Amino acid sequence: MNVADISGLPEGVAEHLESEGIEELYPPQAEAVEAGATEGESLVASVPTASGKTLIAELAMLSAIERGGTALYIVPLRALAGEKATEFEAFEQFGISVGVSTGNYQSDGERLSDNDIVVATSEKVDSLVRNGAGWIDDLACVVADEVHLVDDQHRGPTLEVTLAKLRQRVPDLQVVALSATVGNADEIADWLDAALVDTDWRPIDLRTGVHYGQAVHYDDGTQEELSVGSGSQTAAVVADTLKDDGSTLVFVNSRRNAEAAARRLSDVTKGSLSADQRDRLREVAEEIRGVSDTETSDDLADAVAKGAAFHHAGLAREHRELVEDAFRERLIRVVAATPTLAAGVNTPSRRVVVRDWQRYDGTAGGMQPLSVLEVHQMFGRAGRPGLDPYGEAVLLANGHDELEELFDRYIYAEPDPVRSKLAAEPALRTHVLAAVATGFTTTEEALHEFLGETLYAAQTDDPRRLESVTRDVLAYLEANEFVERENGALRATTTGHLVSQLYVDPMSAATLVDGLRDAARAAERSEAADGASGEAASRADEAGGPFQTASDLQTEAEPIPEDVDVELTPLGLYHLVSRTPDMYELYLRSGDRETYTELAYEVEDQLLGPAPREEEAHWEDWLSALKTAKLLDDWASELDEDRIAERYGVGPGDIRGKVETAEWLLNATERLAADIGVGATAVRAARKRVQYGVREELLDLAGVRDVGRKRARRLYEAGIETRADLRNAEKSVVLGAVRGRRKTAERILENVGHPNPDLTDVDADADTVAAVEESERDGQANLGDFS
Ligand code: ADP
Repeated sequence: MNVADISGLPEGVAEHLESEGIEELYPPQAEAVEAGATEGESLVASVPTASGKTLIAELAMLSAIERGGTALYIVPLRALAGEKATEFEAFEQFGISVGVSTGNYQSDGERLSDNDIVVATSEKVDSLVRNGAGWIDDLACVVADEVHLVDDQHRGPTLEVTLAKLRQRVPDLQVVALSATVGNADEIADWLDAALVDTDWRPIDLRTGVHYGQAVHYDDGTQEELSVGSGSQTAAVVADTLKDDGSTLVFVNSRRNAEAAARRLSDVTKGSLSADQRDRLREVAEEIRGVSDTETSDDLADAVAKGAAFHHAGLAREHRELVEDAFRERLIRVVAATPTLAAGVNTPSRRVVVRDWQRYDGTAGGMQPLSVLEVHQMFGRAGRPGLDPYGEAVLLANGHDELEELFDRYIYAEPDPVRSKLAAEPALRTHVLAAVATGFTTTEEALHEFLGETLYAAQTDDPRRLESVTRDVLAYLEANEFVERENGALRATTTGHLVSQLYVDPMSAATLVDGLRDAARAAERSEAADGASGEAASRADEAGGPFQTASDLQTEAEPIPEDVDVELTPLGLYHLVSRTPDMYELYLRSGDRETYTELAYEVEDQLLGPAPREEEAHWEDWLSALKTAKLLDDWASELDEDRIAERYGVGPGDIRGKVETAEWLLNATERLAADIGVGATAVRAARKRVQYGVREELLDLAGVRDVGRKRARRLYEAGIETRADLRNAEKSVVLGAVRGRRKTAERILENVGHPNPDLTDVDADADTVAAVEESERDGQANLGDFS
């Protein structure tokens, strides 16, 4: 079937696709069209990676828009939203508008309604539904990318519930679910009442095999010599691929391994570069260095200059984009990647090496093999259609037994089936509260009925399990006063509504509310001890026993005293948000237990909520949260990014991730604090300090666009302490404070509303430059007082 034969697309689209080299549909695409993808029919497409699933989605969305509807594209990772939206923007020339909705905050629901295509994560869609976004009712087509992730225990349930809710809310909604090849795509199709395209067709041949000894053993029974020599197996495969002028994608199991592999493999690639390639790589390396001031950034730049790179979630987004682009341009010849992100990013290469087929799994307490699906997705990145004759994907074996095991486990293996993970408490806690708060279900029966529409219900043999977990969860929500029951009807309380809208796990909200109430009681106690009221003190003592926390299901909420001065410090609040299940804590490394135990006692007065005892298992979590809190506190105290990275053993992407999550959770804390009448102002200040990464005195300045944490400090040191100062500042001083960067200084002056931001003929004030430099040296020395 040719693209030109498809009816129902906006005018010009077919010609556009042809100009992009897409004339004839790939067989799975043709099958999808025949099944009604462009006529509003629901469809599950279970097709190998890189075999044109995106076009199936595009054809469905564009024809839905042509019929007058709007489309929603659900991405599995926030990092992919921008990339997908950019792809769809190619259709803007045909009058199609594209919007992206990401970010943690509840917001922007109605503005999105102006778009024909909205790209969002399932968490975001879920949050938009909860906040009553009206445009959801106008949806004609929803695409779920990587729908096999319903199997993921963390994120799967949200995708599952979101699809079930959208289908319930919008009758006749077309659902297009894209999946990697899985063992039971038919079950997903049954669940979604959808047609099924299930194939392992690929646009380019894929040979898979295992390297062992001095040869690759292929799936067709052939062997090819590939001798290892003195280096590693990986290096030998990379060198062999380079001989054919090909590039290699190497999958490893940890960030550290990715970085180490890139460093070692850069010695292999550097010899293959032309002078021109070296020059261009040097430019990319410089751009990478410019992204952030960290060791990770430097290490990446060093490797890139020699033609190799690493790719993992610890990198900043700009880093990843630079690496992906240079790899696609064939400047970078090897990328060592962790599976997490690389699976979703379109970076095909001649060869794929799956170096590590096991990875550390904390819940299992040891190394666990990757799933067949994950390994097949990595394999799928091999071969660039139209450019390579075929793709090759190899695993590496150390012994003969391992060779056989890998063949059985991954080469000959059938893909795994996907299983719903919905019947777990954390997932249901969130979704049950949402269903009640949005008025989606108002009785326990209706709730069970709705949950009966999920994939879990379609797959389980034991429907009572879902019901019993749901009952426990309802009890939890009632005990924490998020939900109440009246004559059999379920209703969310004001706090319950708020929690659902804020999109935090109800257990996080319970922890936050507890912490704040505990602080209020402590304040009341100390006022009482000062002689105000002995009665209040004893009442507070009774309520504040160490085991009565709402998050443990036990508390009768104690009335909050109205007029006590609650003492909330930023560190205490950072610790509180770091203790919630919505924050991924930092692990404790060797020696950390002692360090943070000491710190825990030192700052005991600042930490909120009842502390566990040292011998309790829970103590470790308390310390991990403290370590995370300390990172945030360092950030909010203006410690340099590279110092933080070094101190906590993290990458710049992690720092930004933690900061963003903290900002979001502190925003939730602020709203809850206002709701229960405790300390909202202090929470707000702590949130702003994390948001800008500055101390208290810089909050005003750092809020000016383009100023940021470092420049705010420099301006402050130069005597410009507030926005008002900046508006009226001597321009030569401002220029000196930003180290003579004219464009920057002009932009800042413009943003703050300076009457005449023009800097022509203005010179940087020399005293300011000297003063700023000196204070910077002293400043970082003083900030490093914790180790
Ligand atoms: P998937 O989503 O299945 O991982 P993609 O949609 O990213 O795969 O497709 C991989 C590549 O194939 C893209 O570069 C796309 O432009 C190209 N492609 C898709 N369909 C066709 C087609 N019918 N003819 C030629 N190229 C195609």
